[in-house]
Amino acid sequence: MRVLVIEDSLVLIRPLCRMVEEIGFEACPVHSLAEMRLRMAQEPKFVAAIADYSLPDALNGEHLAELFQVAIPTIVLTSRSDVEMRERILQLPVVDYVTKESPAAFDYVMRMLIRIHKNPSIKVLIVDDSTSFRAFLREHLERHLYQVLEASNAKQALECLHQEKSIKLVLTDNDMPGMDGIRMTSTIRRFLDHDRLAIIGISSNADPTMTTRFIKAGADDYLQKPFNFEEFFCRVTRNVEFVENLAALKDSADRDPLTGLANRRYFFEQVMQLKDGYSLAVLDIDFFKNVNDQYGHDVGDHVICNTARLMEQFFPEGVVARFGGEEFVILSPNPMEKDMRQRLEDLRQAIESCVIVTTKGSLRYTVSMGMAAADLPEISRLLKLADERLYHAKQNGRNQICEG
Ligand code: GH3
Ligand code: MG
Ligand code: MG
Repeated sequence: MRVLVIEDSLVLIRPLCRMVEEIGFEACPVHSLAEMRLRMAQEPKFVAAIADYSLPDALNGEHLAELFQVAIPTIVLTSRSDVEMRERILQLPVVDYVTKESPAAFDYVMRMLIRIHKNPSIKVLIVDDSTSFRAFLREHLERHLYQVLEASNAKQALECLHQEKSIKLVLTDNDMPGMDGIRMTSTIRRFLDHDRLAIIGISSNADPTMTTRFIKAGADDYLQKPFNFEEFFCRVTRNVEFVENLAALKDSADRDPLTGLANRRYFFEQVMQLKDGYSLAVLDIDFFKNVNDQYGHDVGDHVICNTARLMEQFFPEGVVARFGGEEFVILSPNPMEKDMRQRLEDLRQAIESCVIVTTKGSLRYTVSMGMAAADLPEISRLLKLADERLYHAKQNGRNQICEG
C-alpha cells in the first residue's frame, strides 16, 4: 500500500506524508523527477501517486506522463487555480486534481486516496442505449478504478441487479427503447433501498421536470448533459460515500460491536422473514464470571468472540445472535431435531477442546445449551422452551445440551 508523494516543497511534503500514513498507507516522498525515476526503478509497485504539477526538473508536468505510462492512479496538486491550468490538467488521465490554495485541499486528497483503495471492490452499472456514451463513462470510471458493468436497456439492467448483489451505483439514461430510466428507477427501488444502491439519472433531455421526476422515482442525484467530468466525479464520489455511510450505520444498529453477530433486535427482524419451520438453541458460557475474575475482562471478551466464531462456523446457513453478556441464540433453518442436535454436539465438543492461551496461562471453557425445534414454530414460545432447557442443562452439571 505504498503511495508515491511527489512534491519539491519541504514545507508541504512532510505534512502530506504524515497524513498519508495516518490513513494507513506507506508514504514514499520524492522531490524531483530524477528522484521519482530512481524510486520507481527500485520499487515499481505503488497503489497511487500524489504529484505536484511543477517540479524543478519537470516544470510542465513532464513526470505525469511517466506515471500514466505505468498506470499509477495519480492525484495532481497544483498551486495555480486558473482556468487554463484546470483545462490542461483535466485533459490528462488523472484521478483528480487539487489546488493547494484551499485549506481543505489535503483532506480532499486523502479522501481520494481512500477511494482509490476502496473503488476496485465497488461495482458501478451504466445503463444507456448509446454504446459510445457507455464507453465514454466506462473510461472515466475506470480511471477511478471502479469495476464497471454495462446494460443497454432497463430490462438488462434489472436482470443484472438481480444477479450482481454488490452493485453500489447505477448511472442511468432516461430515453431508452422499452422502459425509460425514471420507470426503471422506481422499479429498482422496490427491491433495493438507498443503503444498498445509489442511482444517478443522466440525460440530455431538456425537459425541466426531469430532475424532480428522477429524484421522486427514487434516484439520489441527477446530471444534465453535457456535464464536465470534475462535477461528474464529485457526484459519483459523494453518492458512493453516502451508500457506504448508510450501510455502515445500518450495520452498527443491527450488530453487536464486540462479536459482529446479529443483536437481539436484528435477530427478530430476520426471523420474521422466515416462512418454514426451524430449530433453535440458546447457548450460555459456563462459569464465565470466573474467566473474567481469573484472567481479566479482555480474556473474557476473547472467549466471547471465540465462541461467536465457532457458532458461525458450525451454522453457516443459520442466524447466530448475541442476546446479552455471554448468552447466544442459534437459529437453524433446518427443523430436523436430530440434525440440529448433532451439529450442536459437534459445536459443544469443538468449544470444549479449544485452548485459549493467555499471559496468565492457558484456559479451557465449556458451554451449556437448550434446544427446541418445531415445524410451525412460534418464536417466543420456542425461545422460552429452549431457555428452560438451558436452565436444566446448567442444573444437570453444565457442558451439555438439553433437548427436553
Ligand atoms: P453460569 O455457568 O451459571 O452461566 O455462570 P456464569 O458465571 O457464566 O454466569 P453469570 O451470569 O454469573 O456471569 C456472567 C458474567 O458475564 C457477568 C458479566 O460481568 C460478564 N459479562 C457480560 N458481558 C460481558 C462482556 O461483554 N465481556 C466480558 N468480558 N464479560 C461480560
Ligand atoms: Mg438514450
Ligand atoms: Mg454463563
